[in-house]
Amino acid sequence: MKVTRREFSRLAALGAGAQFLPRISASAEDRKIGYCIVGLGRISMQHFMPAVKMSSKSRVVALVSGHRDKAERMAAEYSVPSGSIYNYENCDAIAKNPDIDAVYIALPNSMHAEYTVRAAKAGKHVLCEKPMATSVEDSRVMIQACETAHKKLMIAYRCQYEPANVRAAQLIREGRLGSVQSIESAFGFPIPPKEWRLDKKLAGGGPLMDVGIYCLNASRYLTGEEPVEVKGYSSVVDQDGRFAQVEETLSWTAKFPGGALASGTCTYGSQMRGYFRVRGSRGTVLVEPAFNYDKPCLLAYFDGGETLELAPDEPDPTQFLREADHMADCILQNKGPKTPGQEGLRDMELMAQIYRSCEKKNT
Ligand code: NAD
Repeated sequence: MKVTRREFSRLAALGAGAQFLPRISASAEDRKIGYCIVGLGRISMQHFMPAVKMSSKSRVVALVSGHRDKAERMAAEYSVPSGSIYNYENCDAIAKNPDIDAVYIALPNSMHAEYTVRAAKAGKHVLCEKPMATSVEDSRVMIQACETAHKKLMIAYRCQYEPANVRAAQLIREGRLGSVQSIESAFGFPIPPKEWRLDKKLAGGGPLMDVGIYCLNASRYLTGEEPVEVKGYSSVVDQDGRFAQVEETLSWTAKFPGGALASGTCTYGSQMRGYFRVRGSRGTVLVEPAFNYDKPCLLAYFDGGETLELAPDEPDPTQFLREADHMADCILQNKGPKTPGQEGLRDMELMAQIYRSCEKKNT
């Protein structure tokens, strides 16, 4: 079965995506959730904020930035009043801003915990970028802070709101692939020098924390299981000074309770288009690209010769919108997010185990 772009959109809206776009009550229909954007960098300015602009449920109402001129430019573009521009020192004053329902944290990884705790104390819900923190301990503190404040904590795992990824998981749940035997995945890019991502204090680790997390998280939402064991190897191939603090390339293997084996490779040393391939006893599903911002494509082969292809012929810009709106729905309907703090914590625990396993082999 070949699915056209129109059909893909219809399936996304009615099937895979529909569960993430629930109906909201009449009283909530007019209300838009106000986001305060913390950190004006690539992900917030190029992806999240433009997506929120398309939303009927969310809007940008405040900004936190260390650069006033950049913040003023963005404020003009998003009709944010100048009184709702904060810096890192005075941002606890968001507590007094009733327009802000939630903060979106898009800072270097090591800053996620501090700003989540500050936002929760200010009485705001939190949508925090991945990885949720740089340690398991910080992740637990974030969860506790939001629980204590009775505020929601969602981790921005956008792929869990993206139709091709969701459809792949559905095919597995429906038994279309039979028993899952293996999952392979990869994601990477060549990193330029002087990025904060190469600073272990700010990043917490190398490509595993940044892009390998997509492969790891996918292995969990595809199987619907938690690994019983993980092992990893890491290496530095390019001795050019970039990788003094973090790994350049890392591969891991995870064993799941049902017997499935998942493996992932991530790197800062070469371009690796994010993908996964799941092989089952009765079929195979490949999503490539799977984790990039646009054009996720799904191709499935089933025993008996049937195939399924979901291949949009233009970029699907809606994954950030779906993510932002899911958080909005959770707030408006007072329900728990699909990707809560616990989901981020589980990946943090597994990544810590993978790093420990790599260290053992290096000693
Ligand atoms: P970026 O470098 O483009 O932006 C980081 C922002 O933090 C900038 O506005 C910068 O000024 C600010 N900042 C404050 N203190 C800083 C400091 N000490 N050092 C460096 N910057 C500082 O980064 P980004 O790519 O937007 O990533 C931000 C977060 O979003 C990270 O946690 C990253 O993992 C995550 N991310 C998620 C996705 C996704 O698709 N979900 C994609 C990219 C990045």
